[in-house]
Amino acid sequence: MILETFPVGALSCNCTLLGDEATHEAIVIDPGDEVSRIHRRLTELGLQLKQILVTHAHIDHVGGALKLKRLTGAPILLNENDLPLLKMMDTQAAWLGVQPPETASPDGSLADGLIVGLKAYPAQVLHTPGHTQGSVCLHFAPMKLLIAGDTLFAGSIGRTDLPGGNFDQIIDSLHSKLLALPDETQVLPGHGPSTTIGEERQSNPYLQLRRPN
Ligand SMILES: [Zn+2]
Repeated sequence: MILETFPVGALSCNCTLLGDEATHEAIVIDPGDEVSRIHRRLTELGLQLKQILVTHAHIDHVGGALKLKRLTGAPILLNENDLPLLKMMDTQAAWLGVQPPETASPDGSLADGLIVGLKAYPAQVLHTPGHTQGSVCLHFAPMKLLIAGDTLFAGSIGRTDLPGGNFDQIIDSLHSKLLALPDETQVLPGHGPSTTIGEERQSNPYLQLRRPN
């Protein structure tokens, strides 16, 4: 198994590359920026990209997806509830004072429960709205690994003050979907260092709040 996570772009979005050395197939999660670097790494490793998975439609996570699709032919998957955000790319770019990247409708939706990824390394989509309406986490159960997007960070959670954000909803998503996972699950958040479900269950201040009814 090849598993590489590296920050891309001005907001240091964690981009993850997962590859299967036996089949030479790969997926890339959250190619927010630095697409030529991502593409070069795929080439260096001799991997063919099968899917581009996007945890949510914020510019720092989705910004390079179309460029990567054009280079590799791989389909882009994004939860359909984030389509309104995807269409707001000009607004999102203005928040950061950058040029808006080109975007296109995704090739499919990361619907809750869908199995994506590689044959040897499948992931189940967990729809975890709150940071955005279409935010998802990807649970690679056999690998005890969670790609958390901007839903859960080490010691914190995703902001809910941007369009589509909802604090009660993210707290509910965290309790109903993420805290249901085993403590030993390794978490790779959308920004910053990795953590585990057990560590966050114990010490993340946002997870000590009571679950809303
Ligand atoms: Zn975000």
